[in-house]
Amino acid sequence: MLDNIQIILVGITHPGNIGAAARAMKTMGLSHMRLVQPKHFPSAEATARATGADDLLENAQIFDTFEESLWDCQLIFGASARSRRIAWPTLTPKVCAEKALESTGKIAIVFGREQSGLTNQELDRCHFLVQISTNPSFSSLNVAAAVQILAYELRLNSLDNRDIATKEDWELGSPPASAESMAQFYQHLEQTLIDIDFLDPKNPRQLMRHLHRLFNRVQLIDTEVNILRGILTAASPR
Ligand code: SAH
Repeated sequence: MLDNIQIILVGITHPGNIGAAARAMKTMGLSHMRLVQPKHFPSAEATARATGADDLLENAQIFDTFEESLWDCQLIFGASARSRRIAWPTLTPKVCAEKALESTGKIAIVFGREQSGLTNQELDRCHFLVQISTNPSFSSLNVAAAVQILAYELRLNSLDNRDIATKEDWELGSPPASAESMAQFYQHLEQTLIDIDFLDPKNPRQLMRHLHRLFNRVQLIDTEVNILRGILTAASPR
């Protein structure tokens, strides 16, 4: 359902882009916008560019950190023009829309800064990357244009599926753990790995990145997170 989808814009510097993204969303039937550290907001320029989608701007939720903006989301997609050095599962907009609308939990689709996109740490939190196919020698769209393309695919998919009852896709009896409980789990894991001398904080290499990729692929449920955290506690030196 489109109503489960949160569009998260991280570190936008030009308020016009926030307005244009709100317009892109509203035309396609999306209504939940979250902003992480927008440089200027609220802003007359954002309202002007929203041309009638100002209700989305008024209802936009603002967060200080990326982590906080994700707190209740269970499935996270990061839109990125760049491929990662460490291979990450990457989808087309169409497949992203299919996966998003198959799911019954809260979904985040995250867009990055105009200049620098999303950081590697932010991309680590995404279960999937979404890449819009572009000219390889000029691959970066304006952020609101990227929002428009994703929003359009979501709309097409929601129209295709309107007669199909939402699929209960968790056979495990409960939905995937929220981003907030996963963030606490990663913190606990990292600290324990340091305590047992497996992870050297002075030379962490790509260990936590590989572990994020592993757990993103599995999509733990709360009971499993609790078991793993119990093991970490039991394994910690006293
Ligand atoms: N130079 C930046 C580009 C940022 S464009 C970079 O290298 O990442 C701003 C945002 O728009 C990106 O963070 C991404 O969320 C979205 N975007 C732009 N082009 C895209 C593309 N081809 N595929 C997916 N997302 C894209």
